Amino acid sequence: MDLSYIINELAEERENYFNAISPPIIQTSNFAFPTVEAMRSAFRDEMSTYLYSRGINPTVDILRTKLAALDGAEDCLVFNNGAAAVFAGVLANVKSGDHIVSVQHPYTWAAHMFDRILPRFGVSTTYVDGTRIEEFERAILPNTRLIYLESPNSWWLDIQDLAAVADLARSENIITLIDNSYCTPLYQKPIELGIDIAMQTATKYIGGHSDTLGGVLCGSAAMMKRIFDSEYLCVGSGIQPFNAWMLLRGLRTLPMRLERIAQTTRQVLDFLKSHPRVEETIFPLDPDYPQYALARKQMKGASGLISFYLKADTIGEIERFCESLKHFRMAVSWGGHESLVIPKCASLEPSAFDARNRNHRMIRLYVGLEDGEYLIRDLEQAF
Ligand SMILES: *Cc1c(COP(=O)(O)O)cnc(C)c1O
Repeated sequence: MDLSYIINELAEERENYFNAISPPIIQTSNFAFPTVEAMRSAFRDEMSTYLYSRGINPTVDILRTKLAALDGAEDCLVFNNGAAAVFAGVLANVKSGDHIVSVQHPYTWAAHMFDRILPRFGVSTTYVDGTRIEEFERAILPNTRLIYLESPNSWWLDIQDLAAVADLARSENIITLIDNSYCTPLYQKPIELGIDIAMQTATKYIGGHSDTLGGVLCGSAAMMKRIFDSEYLCVGSGIQPFNAWMLLRGLRTLPMRLERIAQTTRQVLDFLKSHPRVEETIFPLDPDYPQYALARKQMKGASGLISFYLKADTIGEIERFCESLKHFRMAVSWGGHESLVIPKCASLEPSAFDARNRNHRMIRLYVGLEDGEYLIRDLEQAF
């Protein structure tokens, strides 16, 4: 299916709504039935009928169909945010006594779930260095049910060999779930590489304007139905029709935004690499990146997020740099129009700062839609 078709036409049955170009926001909680039998049939399988908007909703369905197609998946569920999608995707696949193997340094709230919530229900997690397939092999136990990936992962942008992990997991009957937020399905298609569930936060690139949240799970129809019938309906973390509409709107410009951001990111990266105050940069599609060959093999592109180590002797120097930036806003999240900066030391007590630990001197930039030259001038004056 052509990308342009998916984004501009797929699932938009405009004759059903006055041939409007923009789809309607079906802002309703419930749907009426003409007969008892129709209602009974909806109760039998809520995923195939409009019954109640905690389940299926027509505006959300347009988004689901498009996002499933982007990932090359049979079906898709859209949640109110990315953390909810992660939670449902994992919860649906483990029970008491099970074991999870996760890539180290997963997204904050994925780590919270593994460390704080799941142990209360008898589910344990082993973290591995995901850059080495042997680490996964070694960590798998007889009760391992799920392998959790994030490639590239947050901050360090380490990547995992997705096809190799998928093969290993299949041979051991283990479900694989990847957080694919960095790449989006435009730059990496995990399902095609054999991963069972592709998750992404739609808050970032799909929304693209820092004005709504959303989370996505894509996978087989059977897997999506299993999650829908249980965690999705029970927790009620599905997306609302208006937010789904916002994400449909964001989706229209996703390819061009990513392309533009990828270009500007390269300009900013080149500048950082040549600057004397930068000790080292991390960007997956940089030939100096340690896993460059693998990145080239499984990723069609990379954009936006760059991490780097700032040369600094004190925490004050890092704080001054971040606070001197005028156009990179200091904020969490990314994927919007606006460039952002976040220093690792923001999650450190100042007394714990150690300049010899370079992770304490780590800074993550998100490059948005501004002009490259404009952003580079800002970095220059802050250095
Ligand atoms: C932001 C983010 C999430 C969580 O998404 P929300 O929509 O904020 O809940 C998950 N994974 C990664 C990699 C993220 O950056």
